[in-house]
Amino acid sequence: MNNGSMKAVGVIPAKREVALFEHAMPHLSAPTELKIKTLEVGICGTDREICSFAYGTPPCGSDYLVLGHEALGEVVEIGPGVTRFKPGDLVVPTVRRPCAHEHCPSCRDARQDFCSTGDFTERGIKMTHGFMTEYFVEDQVHLNIVPPQLRDVAVLVEPLTVAEKALAQVWQVQQRLPWTNGSTSEAERGAGKTAVVLGAGPVGILGAMALVVSGFKTFVYSRSPEPNPKADLVNSIGAKYISCATTPVAEFARQVGRIDLVYEAVGVAQISFEVMTVLGLNGVFVFTGIPPHQAAIPIAADSLMRQLVLKNQAIIGTVNADHHAFTQAIRHLAVFKQRWPEALGKVITGRHPLENYRALLLGKATGIKNVITIG
Ligand SMILES: [Zn+2]
Ligand SMILES: [Zn+2]
Repeated sequence: MNNGSMKAVGVIPAKREVALFEHAMPHLSAPTELKIKTLEVGICGTDREICSFAYGTPPCGSDYLVLGHEALGEVVEIGPGVTRFKPGDLVVPTVRRPCAHEHCPSCRDARQDFCSTGDFTERGIKMTHGFMTEYFVEDQVHLNIVPPQLRDVAVLVEPLTVAEKALAQVWQVQQRLPWTNGSTSEAERGAGKTAVVLGAGPVGILGAMALVVSGFKTFVYSRSPEPNPKADLVNSIGAKYISCATTPVAEFARQVGRIDLVYEAVGVAQISFEVMTVLGLNGVFVFTGIPPHQAAIPIAADSLMRQLVLKNQAIIGTVNADHHAFTQAIRHLAVFKQRWPEALGKVITGRHPLENYRALLLGKATGIKNVITIG
């Protein structure tokens, strides 16, 4: 093992550069820390946006930020205070780290996903280095153990947590009404309900899998006309793919029937607000996408407001995920793998060496989930 430096991919915002460079090998600095060998790192739109310098802040004192927030690693060294892990364990880290303020109840309660000051940091995104490097050090409270049989798909845990945190909030919000028919069994909770997923990227497809497993009749509404590989994948898990290029919203609504839940994973306002107009009575609409700043678009605000009130609808925006969402994602991935081994494998459309970073981060987006294999 090299104790000096290691390879890393990151951004140098002041120079507007994306580069492969040498980064100092990290060492344990607290008893509850672990050293982890990076195995795989997923690439997503967030990484690509950081590479366009839309956001992404280096840690204080550094002129660069190591990228990567969707990681799978193997524990290689543990501090004397580590109780929950041993060398050889597979782990997936969470992304957000708490702010330092005593008056932030969320962070003090390990719910930095709801940080109320905005002074949180995020590994690979905001003021903390990410995982697109050979080793990283992390405190045990920010790690989640993954069973060995999930090694080939565990890099999907982090993108799946988007849906897990969304669903956790949907169950909470819909407790306002007898929505779940009193059912507590997971496979029954969505039974008799219809969910629509907007977008067929990794967050949308993994979300559709979580919705199907939770009993929802699930539709994925996305741009590409059929036939296409994403549509085939969606249809193979028992959801139904419908293209918005060939089926306009009104016709889509007619085919789908009453919509109880919309899970937005497309990051486009136009289609999202159009679909909001066909959300059903007592329905809930969850936004997870982050559109770029652009010119305002017209929406029928009065009729939308009227509808939200008269139909008891709830709109939720959600970002980042807590420990519970990671636990749920790991549990769900095991279910997905058992139920749809082939489809789940197809979500990862490419595995690449670190040296290919340029094409992956700056080239045209292709496939569903591209992964960098390091270890
Ligand atoms: Zn991501
Ligand atoms: Zn906070």
